[in-house]
Amino acid sequence: MDGNPMTSRRDRIRDKIMSRVEIDETTGCYIWQGPTSGDKGRGRDYPRMSLDGQTVAVHIVMWTNEHGYVPGKKQLDHICRNRRCVRPDGPHLEMVTHRENMKRRDKARKAPPPKTEEN
Ligand SMILES: [Zn+2]
Repeated sequence: MDGNPMTSRRDRIRDKIMSRVEIDETTGCYIWQGPTSGDKGRGRDYPRMSLDGQTVAVHIVMWTNEHGYVPGKKQLDHICRNRRCVRPDGPHLEMVTHRENMKRRDKARKAPPPKTEEN
């Protein structure tokens, strides 16, 4: 038995998240099936869940669970461009600075738009 409370908490969180994702076998994305932040504002359509009574962003929780906290000046960027993907490794999530994230977004805007599920 593993007596480390941090380990069991991480496992509990991972299990809770993984029970609500669907794995895309083509891209390897962990597609969140639960609620999202809706279609309003900047944080639109990001996976949301309730954890210990708080509403949190699922991809950030997944990342923190595997890699540790995201410093205030850094953000998580979806390399796979799938906003509902919560996979914390591979070409899916990467920690970048806010500036780098904006730069990438500008670049993405000039490129053909990625496939989305909106409407
Ligand atoms: Zn992905």
